[in-house]
Amino acid sequence: MDVRCSMLDVRRSTAPRLSHHSLFSRYFSSMPPVSTPAIVLHTFKYSESSKVVRLLTRDLGLVSAVAKGASKPKSKFGARLQVMSDGIAQLYMKHGRDLNTLAEFESVRLRQELAADIRSYASASALAELVMRFAPAEPHEETYVRLEAYLDSLCKVQGDLLETTSISAIWGIVCALGFEPSLDGCARDGRAIDDGPALFSVADGGLLCSSCAGQTETARSAAKLQHSDRLALDSLIAGRCSDVGVLSERHAAAHRRLLVRFVLRHVSEDRDLKALDFWESIPWGTSFAGAVPSDNAHPSEAAIEETKRGTGS
Ligand SMILES: [Zn+2]
Repeated sequence: MDVRCSMLDVRRSTAPRLSHHSLFSRYFSSMPPVSTPAIVLHTFKYSESSKVVRLLTRDLGLVSAVAKGASKPKSKFGARLQVMSDGIAQLYMKHGRDLNTLAEFESVRLRQELAADIRSYASASALAELVMRFAPAEPHEETYVRLEAYLDSLCKVQGDLLETTSISAIWGIVCALGFEPSLDGCARDGRAIDDGPALFSVADGGLLCSSCAGQTETARSAAKLQHSDRLALDSLIAGRCSDVGVLSERHAAAHRRLLVRFVLRHVSEDRDLKALDFWESIPWGTSFAGAVPSDNAHPSEAAIEETKRGTGS
Protein backbone atom coordinates (compact mmCIF):
# COMPACT_ATOMS: atom_id res chain seq x y z
CA MET A 1 0.00 0.00 0.00
CA ASP A 2 2.79 2.42 0.89
CA VAL A 3 4.41 1.61 -2.41
CA ARG A 4 1.34 2.43 -4.45
CA CYS A 5 0.67 5.76 -2.62
CA SER A 6 4.24 6.91 -3.00
CA MET A 7 4.27 6.09 -6.70
CA LEU A 8 1.07 8.04 -7.28
CA ASP A 9 2.53 11.01 -5.41
CA VAL A 10 5.63 10.97 -7.57
CA ARG A 11 3.57 10.71 -10.74
CA ARG A 12 1.43 13.73 -9.84
CA SER A 13 4.13 16.02 -8.54
CA THR A 14 7.28 15.57 -10.56
CA ALA A 15 7.20 13.16 -13.43
CA PRO A 16 3.95 13.07 -15.37
CA ARG A 17 5.55 11.62 -18.50
CA LEU A 18 7.38 8.73 -16.83
CA SER A 19 5.86 5.32 -17.45
CA HIS A 20 4.58 3.20 -14.63
CA HIS A 21 7.56 0.93 -15.15
CA SER A 22 10.07 3.79 -14.79
CA LEU A 23 8.40 4.97 -11.62
CA PHE A 24 8.45 1.49 -10.22
CA SER A 25 12.12 1.17 -11.10
CA ARG A 26 12.92 4.56 -9.61
CA TYR A 27 11.16 3.70 -6.38
CA PHE A 28 13.19 0.53 -6.07
CA SER A 29 16.41 2.09 -7.38
CA SER A 30 18.16 1.37 -4.12
CA MET A 31 17.04 -2.27 -4.32
CA PRO A 32 17.37 -3.66 -7.84
CA PRO A 33 15.42 -6.76 -8.80
CA VAL A 34 17.22 -10.05 -8.58
CA SER A 35 17.32 -12.16 -11.72
CA THR A 36 17.38 -15.96 -11.45
CA PRO A 37 16.36 -19.04 -13.43
CA ALA A 38 13.11 -20.36 -11.93
CA ILE A 39 10.57 -23.16 -12.31
CA VAL A 40 6.87 -22.42 -11.66
CA LEU A 41 5.62 -24.98 -9.10
CA HIS A 42 2.19 -23.60 -8.32
CA THR A 43 0.02 -20.52 -8.82
CA PHE A 44 -3.15 -19.37 -7.12
CA LYS A 45 -5.40 -16.34 -7.14
CA TYR A 46 -4.32 -13.59 -4.74
CA SER A 47 -6.75 -10.80 -5.52
CA GLU A 48 -9.15 -9.92 -8.33
CA SER A 49 -6.25 -9.28 -10.72
CA SER A 50 -3.12 -10.79 -9.12
CA LYS A 51 -1.70 -14.25 -8.57
CA VAL A 52 0.74 -15.71 -6.08
CA VAL A 53 3.42 -17.77 -7.80
CA ARG A 54 5.46 -20.41 -5.99
CA LEU A 55 8.82 -20.78 -7.65
CA LEU A 56 11.83 -22.99 -7.23
CA THR A 57 14.65 -20.65 -8.17
CA ARG A 58 18.21 -21.70 -8.83
CA ASP A 59 19.80 -18.82 -6.94
CA LEU A 60 17.28 -17.99 -4.19
CA GLY A 61 15.72 -21.34 -3.33
CA LEU A 62 11.95 -21.54 -2.82
CA VAL A 63 10.26 -18.20 -3.35
CA SER A 64 6.66 -17.04 -3.14
CA ALA A 65 5.89 -13.86 -5.05
CA VAL A 66 2.91 -11.78 -6.10
CA ALA A 67 2.55 -11.36 -9.86
CA LYS A 68 0.57 -8.13 -9.94
CA GLY A 69 -2.06 -7.98 -12.65
CA ALA A 70 -1.32 -11.56 -13.80
CA SER A 71 -5.03 -12.42 -14.06
CA LYS A 72 -5.83 -9.44 -16.28
CA PRO A 73 -6.43 -10.26 -19.96
CA LYS A 74 -3.63 -7.98 -21.17
CA SER A 75 -1.15 -8.84 -18.42
CA LYS A 76 2.54 -8.60 -19.27
CA PHE A 77 2.83 -12.13 -17.86
CA GLY A 78 0.43 -13.48 -20.49
CA ALA A 79 0.35 -17.30 -20.35
CA ARG A 80 3.94 -17.52 -19.21
CA LEU A 81 3.25 -18.45 -15.59
CA GLN A 82 2.18 -22.00 -16.42
CA VAL A 83 2.85 -24.61 -13.80
CA MET A 84 5.99 -26.70 -14.64
CA SER A 85 7.29 -24.08 -17.06
CA ASP A 86 10.64 -22.45 -16.48
CA GLY A 87 12.21 -19.14 -17.30
CA ILE A 88 14.09 -16.17 -15.92
CA ALA A 89 12.37 -14.46 -13.00
CA GLN A 90 13.03 -10.87 -11.95
CA LEU A 91 12.15 -10.59 -8.28
CA TYR A 92 11.98 -7.78 -5.77
CA MET A 93 12.95 -9.57 -2.58
CA LYS A 94 11.61 -8.23 0.70
CA HIS A 95 13.86 -9.16 3.56
CA GLY A 96 12.06 -10.81 6.41
CA ARG A 97 8.86 -11.18 4.37
CA ASP A 98 7.47 -14.39 2.94
CA LEU A 99 5.78 -12.76 -0.02
CA ASN A 100 7.97 -11.03 -2.60
CA THR A 101 7.11 -9.32 -5.89
CA LEU A 102 7.56 -10.86 -9.32
CA ALA A 103 8.47 -8.01 -11.67
CA GLU A 104 9.02 -10.05 -14.86
CA PHE A 105 9.05 -13.66 -16.00
CA GLU A 106 10.72 -14.45 -19.28
CA SER A 107 9.61 -17.91 -20.35
CA VAL A 108 12.21 -20.41 -21.57
CA ARG A 109 10.19 -23.66 -21.70
CA LEU A 110 6.42 -24.04 -21.27
CA ARG A 111 6.43 -27.87 -21.23
CA GLN A 112 2.94 -28.17 -22.68
CA GLU A 113 3.72 -31.80 -23.58
CA LEU A 114 3.10 -32.75 -19.94
CA ALA A 115 -0.61 -32.11 -20.39
CA ALA A 116 -0.88 -34.64 -23.22
CA ASP A 117 -0.78 -37.70 -20.94
CA ILE A 118 -2.27 -37.90 -17.47
CA ARG A 119 0.66 -40.07 -16.34
CA SER A 120 3.25 -37.42 -17.29
CA TYR A 121 1.12 -34.73 -15.69
CA ALA A 122 0.62 -36.71 -12.46
CA SER A 123 4.37 -37.46 -12.30
CA ALA A 124 5.31 -33.80 -12.74
CA SER A 125 2.74 -32.78 -10.12
CA ALA A 126 4.16 -35.27 -7.62
CA LEU A 127 7.67 -33.88 -8.22
CA ALA A 128 6.45 -30.29 -7.78
CA GLU A 129 4.62 -31.21 -4.59
CA LEU A 130 7.69 -32.85 -3.05
CA VAL A 131 9.88 -29.88 -3.91
CA MET A 132 7.35 -27.32 -2.69
CA ARG A 133 6.80 -29.10 0.61
CA PHE A 134 10.26 -30.38 1.44
CA ALA A 135 12.99 -28.48 -0.38
CA PRO A 136 15.10 -26.32 1.93
CA ALA A 137 14.25 -22.61 1.86
CA GLU A 138 17.82 -21.74 0.92
CA PRO A 139 19.19 -22.33 -2.61
CA HIS A 140 19.89 -25.98 -3.40
CA GLU A 141 21.29 -26.35 -6.88
CA GLU A 142 21.05 -30.14 -7.06
CA THR A 143 17.30 -30.08 -6.48
CA TYR A 144 16.91 -27.35 -9.11
CA VAL A 145 19.01 -29.12 -11.74
CA ARG A 146 17.31 -32.46 -11.15
CA LEU A 147 13.78 -31.08 -11.23
CA GLU A 148 14.53 -29.31 -14.50
CA ALA A 149 15.99 -32.48 -16.04
CA TYR A 150 13.16 -34.73 -14.81
CA LEU A 151 10.45 -32.41 -16.15
CA ASP A 152 12.24 -32.37 -19.49
CA SER A 153 12.46 -36.16 -19.64
CA LEU A 154 8.77 -36.51 -18.71
CA CYS A 155 8.04 -34.30 -21.73
CA LYS A 156 10.13 -36.49 -24.02
CA VAL A 157 9.45 -40.05 -22.88
CA GLN A 158 6.21 -41.62 -24.02
CA GLY A 159 4.66 -45.06 -24.03
CA ASP A 160 5.72 -47.94 -21.82
CA LEU A 161 8.98 -46.38 -20.62
CA LEU A 162 7.13 -43.47 -19.05
CA GLU A 163 6.38 -45.43 -15.88
CA THR A 164 10.04 -46.38 -15.36
CA THR A 165 11.06 -42.76 -16.03
CA SER A 166 8.48 -41.48 -13.59
CA ILE A 167 9.42 -43.80 -10.70
CA SER A 168 13.10 -43.01 -11.27
CA ALA A 169 12.45 -39.24 -11.31
CA ILE A 170 10.55 -39.30 -8.03
CA TRP A 171 13.29 -41.37 -6.37
CA GLY A 172 15.80 -38.87 -7.78
CA ILE A 173 14.06 -35.91 -6.16
CA VAL A 174 13.67 -37.82 -2.89
CA CYS A 175 17.45 -38.42 -2.91
CA ALA A 176 18.22 -34.79 -3.84
CA LEU A 177 16.14 -33.74 -0.83
CA GLY A 178 18.42 -35.87 1.34
CA PHE A 179 16.40 -39.04 1.84
CA GLU A 180 18.34 -41.72 -0.01
CA PRO A 181 17.49 -45.30 1.00
CA SER A 182 20.34 -47.55 2.09
CA LEU A 183 21.00 -50.23 -0.52
CA ASP A 184 24.75 -50.85 -0.13
CA GLY A 185 24.81 -51.74 3.54
CA CYS A 186 22.27 -52.81 6.15
CA ALA A 187 19.99 -49.88 7.02
CA ARG A 188 20.10 -50.91 10.68
CA ASP A 189 23.74 -51.76 11.40
CA GLY A 190 25.68 -51.03 8.20
CA ARG A 191 26.79 -54.65 7.66
CA ALA A 192 27.32 -55.97 4.14
CA ILE A 193 24.32 -57.52 2.43
CA ASP A 194 24.72 -60.83 0.61
CA ASP A 195 23.75 -61.16 -3.03
CA GLY A 196 20.36 -62.71 -3.65
CA PRO A 197 16.97 -61.89 -2.16
CA ALA A 198 16.91 -59.35 0.69
CA LEU A 199 14.36 -57.55 2.85
CA PHE A 200 13.70 -53.85 2.31
CA SER A 201 12.48 -52.33 5.55
CA VAL A 202 10.61 -49.08 4.97
CA ALA A 203 10.77 -48.31 8.68
CA ASP A 204 14.57 -48.69 8.74
CA GLY A 205 15.02 -46.91 5.41
CA GLY A 206 16.62 -49.60 3.26
CA LEU A 207 17.82 -53.16 2.88
CA LEU A 208 18.59 -55.36 5.88
CA CYS A 209 21.43 -57.85 6.36
CA SER A 210 20.49 -61.48 6.98
CA SER A 211 21.00 -61.12 10.73
CA CYS A 212 18.60 -58.15 11.06
CA ALA A 213 16.19 -59.69 8.56
CA GLY A 214 15.89 -62.78 10.77
CA GLN A 215 14.12 -60.87 13.50
CA THR A 216 10.46 -61.77 13.29
CA GLU A 217 8.97 -58.32 13.88
CA THR A 218 11.06 -57.01 10.97
CA ALA A 219 10.12 -59.72 8.53
CA ARG A 220 6.43 -58.94 8.78
CA SER A 221 6.72 -55.22 7.93
CA ALA A 222 9.41 -55.46 5.25
CA ALA A 223 9.16 -56.14 1.52
CA LYS A 224 11.10 -59.07 0.12
CA LEU A 225 13.10 -58.11 -2.98
CA GLN A 226 14.52 -60.69 -5.34
CA HIS A 227 18.05 -60.05 -6.57
CA SER A 228 16.68 -58.68 -9.87
CA ASP A 229 14.33 -56.36 -7.93
CA ARG A 230 17.30 -55.05 -5.94
CA LEU A 231 19.19 -54.34 -9.14
CA ALA A 232 16.14 -52.62 -10.64
CA LEU A 233 15.66 -50.47 -7.53
CA ASP A 234 19.33 -49.52 -7.55
CA SER A 235 19.09 -48.49 -11.22
CA LEU A 236 15.84 -46.56 -10.71
CA ILE A 237 17.38 -44.58 -7.85
CA ALA A 238 20.56 -43.93 -9.83
CA GLY A 239 18.54 -42.77 -12.85
CA ARG A 240 19.65 -45.62 -15.14
CA CYS A 241 16.22 -46.10 -16.72
CA SER A 242 17.56 -47.90 -19.77
CA ASP A 243 19.01 -50.64 -17.50
CA VAL A 244 15.51 -51.23 -16.11
CA GLY A 245 13.54 -50.96 -19.35
CA VAL A 246 9.80 -51.52 -19.27
CA LEU A 247 8.56 -52.86 -15.92
CA SER A 248 5.84 -55.49 -15.84
CA GLU A 249 2.55 -54.28 -14.40
CA ARG A 250 3.11 -56.23 -11.19
CA HIS A 251 6.67 -55.00 -10.70
CA ALA A 252 5.77 -51.43 -11.52
CA ALA A 253 2.94 -51.46 -8.97
CA ALA A 254 5.32 -52.90 -6.34
CA HIS A 255 7.93 -50.22 -7.07
CA ARG A 256 5.32 -47.45 -6.86
CA ARG A 257 4.02 -48.81 -3.56
CA LEU A 258 7.50 -49.10 -2.05
CA LEU A 259 8.39 -45.56 -3.12
CA VAL A 260 5.19 -44.04 -1.72
CA ARG A 261 5.59 -45.90 1.59
CA PHE A 262 9.20 -44.71 1.84
CA VAL A 263 8.25 -41.08 1.14
CA LEU A 264 5.36 -41.10 3.62
CA ARG A 265 7.54 -42.59 6.32
CA HIS A 266 10.75 -40.60 5.87
CA VAL A 267 9.99 -37.45 3.89
CA SER A 268 6.48 -36.37 4.81
CA GLU A 269 6.39 -38.21 8.16
CA ASP A 270 2.88 -39.47 7.42
CA ARG A 271 1.48 -36.10 6.36
CA ASP A 272 -0.87 -36.30 3.40
CA LEU A 273 0.63 -35.86 -0.08
CA LYS A 274 -2.24 -35.35 -2.51
CA ALA A 275 -0.28 -35.32 -5.76
CA LEU A 276 1.80 -38.37 -4.83
CA ASP A 277 -1.35 -40.20 -3.78
CA PHE A 278 -2.94 -39.34 -7.15
CA TRP A 279 0.24 -40.45 -8.95
CA GLU A 280 0.08 -43.87 -7.31
CA SER A 281 -3.64 -44.33 -7.89
CA ILE A 282 -4.05 -43.37 -11.56
CA PRO A 283 -4.55 -46.26 -13.96
CA TRP A 284 -0.99 -46.81 -15.16
CA GLY A 285 -2.02 -49.63 -17.48
CA THR A 286 -1.26 -48.39 -20.95
CA SER A 287 -4.80 -48.88 -22.22
CA PHE A 288 -5.95 -46.14 -19.85
CA ALA A 289 -3.41 -43.55 -20.96
CA GLY A 290 -5.14 -40.39 -22.00
CA ALA A 291 -4.92 -36.65 -22.25
CA VAL A 292 -5.41 -34.34 -19.32
CA PRO A 293 -8.45 -32.10 -19.71
CA SER A 294 -7.05 -28.66 -19.06
CA ASP A 295 -7.90 -25.14 -20.07
CA ASN A 296 -4.49 -23.59 -19.61
CA ALA A 297 -2.43 -26.23 -21.32
CA HIS A 298 -2.60 -26.91 -25.02
CA PRO A 299 -1.78 -30.50 -25.92
CA SER A 300 -1.97 -30.84 -29.67
CA GLU A 301 -4.18 -33.50 -31.20
CA ALA A 302 -1.09 -34.93 -32.82
CA ALA A 303 0.66 -35.26 -29.46
CA ILE A 304 -2.32 -37.08 -27.99
CA GLU A 305 -2.51 -39.46 -30.94
CA GLU A 306 1.24 -40.02 -30.69
CA THR A 307 0.86 -40.89 -27.00
CA LYS A 308 -1.92 -43.37 -27.73
CA ARG A 309 0.07 -45.02 -30.51
CA GLY A 310 3.18 -45.13 -28.34
CA THR A 311 1.30 -46.86 -25.53
CA GLY A 312 -0.09 -49.45 -27.89
CA SER A 313 -3.75 -48.84 -27.11
ZN1 LIG B 1 21.81 -55.59 9.83
